[in-house]
Amino acid sequence: MIETMAELSRTHYCGDLTETHVGQEVVLMGWAQRRRDHGGLVFIDLRDRTGVIQTVFNPQEDPETHERSHAVRNEFVLAVKGRVRPRPDDMVNEKLATGRIEVFINHLRVLNTSETPPFMVEDEIDVSEPVRLKYRFLDLRRPEVQRNFILRHQASQTTRRFLSEEGFLEIETPFLTKATPEGARDFLVPSRLNPGEFFALPQSPQLFKQLLMVAGFDRYFQIVRCFRDEDFRADRQDEFTQIDYEMSFVREDDVIDVTERLMGWLYADLLGRQVKPPFPRLTYAQAVDQYGLDKPDIRFDMKLKDVTAVVSGSGFKLFAQVAAEGGLVKAINAKGQSGLSRKDLDDLTAFVKVYGAKGLAWVKVNPDGWQSPIAKFFTDGEKAALAETLDAKPGDVLFFSADQPAVVHEVLGQLRVKLAQDLGLTDPAEHALVWVTEFPMFEYSLEEKRYQAMHHPFTAPLESDLDLLETAPEKMRARAYDLVLNGHEIGGGSIRNHRPDIQERIFAALGIGPEEAQEKFGFLMEALSYGAPPHGGLAFGFDRLVMLFAGRSSIRDVIAFPKTQKGTCLMTGAPTPAGRRQLLELGLRVETKAKKEA
Ligand code: ASP
Repeated sequence: MIETMAELSRTHYCGDLTETHVGQEVVLMGWAQRRRDHGGLVFIDLRDRTGVIQTVFNPQEDPETHERSHAVRNEFVLAVKGRVRPRPDDMVNEKLATGRIEVFINHLRVLNTSETPPFMVEDEIDVSEPVRLKYRFLDLRRPEVQRNFILRHQASQTTRRFLSEEGFLEIETPFLTKATPEGARDFLVPSRLNPGEFFALPQSPQLFKQLLMVAGFDRYFQIVRCFRDEDFRADRQDEFTQIDYEMSFVREDDVIDVTERLMGWLYADLLGRQVKPPFPRLTYAQAVDQYGLDKPDIRFDMKLKDVTAVVSGSGFKLFAQVAAEGGLVKAINAKGQSGLSRKDLDDLTAFVKVYGAKGLAWVKVNPDGWQSPIAKFFTDGEKAALAETLDAKPGDVLFFSADQPAVVHEVLGQLRVKLAQDLGLTDPAEHALVWVTEFPMFEYSLEEKRYQAMHHPFTAPLESDLDLLETAPEKMRARAYDLVLNGHEIGGGSIRNHRPDIQERIFAALGIGPEEAQEKFGFLMEALSYGAPPHGGLAFGFDRLVMLFAGRSSIRDVIAFPKTQKGTCLMTGAPTPAGRRQLLELGLRVETKAKKEA
């Protein structure tokens, strides 16, 4: 039954045919999406990357071809030849791009057969993700999935075009390299030629791109795979793609300017939308103060308001005590949401506990006064002052958090986002971009009992804060910036330390002594000492960016062959144990056999 394509060359893609082709003879190739037998006539929807077209097998056209069409099953691969005709008026399908025409087939070749697929290859299927991932090659055939990858391709092409025009050079950096710490665990690769020694897969090209600046390339970019051996929290993959760039002789504003114009191109090319630079900017301190989080969703207001001073003398002991101990009391106002039920409020209380809250104080502002378990503790004057600070009107619900500042911000920041989601306060079609700048240089790790770089150790501090390095590192601000879209961090970067003396002092603040610095980053320190220009850059999480542009909610939708939450590939079965010989060659012995999870 399987035939060759001999003498047949494709003349058109299925989805490209329109009424202008009526009367033409065409040769199409693709997959049988569905076959319908209507007495004398057989209809086969033929699909390729561009779309679907209805083909018609009519005994009058060519009896043998018609006869052979009965054997076609879903996902058979076909080559067909026939003439384009307008559909009769009552058969027009306005939902289909090619729905006004059909092709009457006089020649059919079956190029390959197919097993019955485990699910229909079409949009809106109800199939579990593991099944889709196991048969990813079929899942990827589905039009809505293909569209994501067409968009991804366009995104990388636009990026390349823009950055090339701006004078950036695309230069590849090694995958087999030395660890470049971005704060995650490295993937190690044993070196057969150097037994007992290992390469690390890059967490990002950070150090190499800096070396390219030392090398005088001035502007570099790469759309590059990065590897981080992290637990698959939320929506992450252990290998992911960045748009990575670096520029010499620049300040923050220069990197921000290029990035905003790149976003302008991407929005115009991919979504046909205008975004207008400059994007709003918030310092880290402002973002956390107003939105609780360093990746604020600015599509809706509901800002955090500091009410510590108002409640410090109140009869509500918890608030008064927190205020007395130097803590913070903040509140948000969910406007017009007094319809929230007791159960909703209990659910929200359970939600904030995950973020370290001990409880959640709430107030419903009713026309006749406050309805709240804590109402009785406040004087009318305090209530009036709170109402003024929070712009509280009848119909509103106020939520309070009292604790150490970090807890208060996290709790109300997360609550604010959750309320917006639950109550539909944001328009998914709106894209709000905002820069967050002046991140702290360091954050204290309770686990490791030392300071860690908030961005990475190569980030430069604000010049005005340099004196704090040895005295109050926790107060230092970094020349780092993140680009945030609707509450997602989509890119981040910084101006770097191009002076070896400053880089050395920063290593010291991080507890990396001269010896360790030499061992790990000797090549960088050496390069910096040979005339490194001032430089800085940024990297976008490309998968997340494409995901948001495609309106999807998982990066797995825009990665052709993603892994599961457990870091496995359901299609290939990777990872798999290594054979004895291979291990021997690598000089490795496996001590414990890790339990393979089902
Ligand atoms: N290498 C950084 C990262 O992967 C980005 C940058 O600083 O340019 O987050």
